[in-house]
Amino acid sequence: MNALAATNRNFKLAARLLGLDSKLEQSLLIPFREIKVECTIPKDDGTLASFVGFRVQHDNARGPMKGGIRYHPEVDPDEVNALAQLMTWKTAVANIPYGGAKGGIGCSPSDLSISELERLTRVFTQKIHDLIGIHTDVPAPDMGTNPQTMAWILDEYSKFHGYSPAVVTGKPIDLGGSLGRDAATGRGALFATEALLNEHGKSIAGQRFVIQAVTLVGRESSVVSCQWMSRRILILFSSSQGFGNVGSWAARLIHEQGGKVVAVSDITGAIKNEKGIDIESLFKHVKETRGVKGFHDAHPIDANSILVEDCDVLIPAALGGVINKDNANEIKAKYIIEAANHPTDPDADEILSKKGVTILPDIYANSGGVTVSYFEWVQNIQGFMWDEKKVNDELKTYMTRGFKDVKEMCKTHNCDLRMGAFTLGVNRVARATVLRGWEA
Ligand code: GLU
Repeated sequence: MNALAATNRNFKLAARLLGLDSKLEQSLLIPFREIKVECTIPKDDGTLASFVGFRVQHDNARGPMKGGIRYHPEVDPDEVNALAQLMTWKTAVANIPYGGAKGGIGCSPSDLSISELERLTRVFTQKIHDLIGIHTDVPAPDMGTNPQTMAWILDEYSKFHGYSPAVVTGKPIDLGGSLGRDAATGRGALFATEALLNEHGKSIAGQRFVIQAVTLVGRESSVVSCQWMSRRILILFSSSQGFGNVGSWAARLIHEQGGKVVAVSDITGAIKNEKGIDIESLFKHVKETRGVKGFHDAHPIDANSILVEDCDVLIPAALGGVINKDNANEIKAKYIIEAANHPTDPDADEILSKKGVTILPDIYANSGGVTVSYFEWVQNIQGFMWDEKKVNDELKTYMTRGFKDVKEMCKTHNCDLRMGAFTLGVNRVARATVLRGWEA
């Protein structure tokens, strides 16, 4: 089942549990606007290259539409649609005043130079600048994009509309980015895991974790050291270079809390150490070699088998659809924390539920990123910068409250956590839609 079919299916199940009016259901499902643009740029060698860019604005009942922009060869309209819809439910679950959107360009960022990426981003922005805005649609990084990409969008957008830092989030700190945004998705996943484990009488310390990080071939969101050589400036976006922004932050924070990370993977391969990987020295290794492969204090394992390694908690933090009917039966984890978007397809959901595996769904588990995007947007609008402690404390408040709200829906509708999160999100959006007078 592709990402859109799976997302629609989950939405419809939630709508049924909520007893939603069928016309309202239909209107919530259809995207507000779908944009598809041609982006042609001159390559460094003087030849022309054309790419297709998308922005799907799914729903704006609760506020400006919000969501990342993905650069990846597999970006297609169905995937962007699914991810845009997930953003609508995610922002509602997090209870931040946004709707949902997602964008992307079908390209392989690792095959493009920094100047080609800049030109592509600027052309894409020229094509959509009239349709995004501080109070309409606010992009952010996603897979294959990073704070530098947001800086280019901000600069290009500002040529048309005047300087507007709040038009994108996940920006470099020097341009109004928020402290703590880089770590936010990983940190949010940590708070979500804590909330779940505490409920089961457990804590991070003492649990064994497996983390599957970005398997994308190319540059990963927010962690790329972007050598902007044409302008002789070296921009390092994060100290957490290496195995994917979300996965690497989750690993570091879990390690700090006493959790034992027994296996991790990234684009270069997968490694395992039953006694627990020393994450700090892994980071040093990754910084030097740009990948987890070859780390001295662990042994290599098959990257395809990372998801079925023996552990208590599995954190898929890479691409969608990786947990499916082919591997669900082999999964040994008791808990799955969906740090990626849509890592588990509905067939796998069913198999895992029968096996008694508890899944913390993406629209709650990875909402830390967009929550701190919201804090960034608020800071830009206020013209006032928060310190990192305030950002992290507020994030914890939102994640802890989100877990309680999801659990409440599970009780009300006698359903699992995925349906608890979907009913929570869909219900909030439906209420806002009706209050605004959708029938008029
Ligand atoms: N791309 C992230 C996500 O999928 C963040 C979106 C945002 O901050 O707007 O949630």
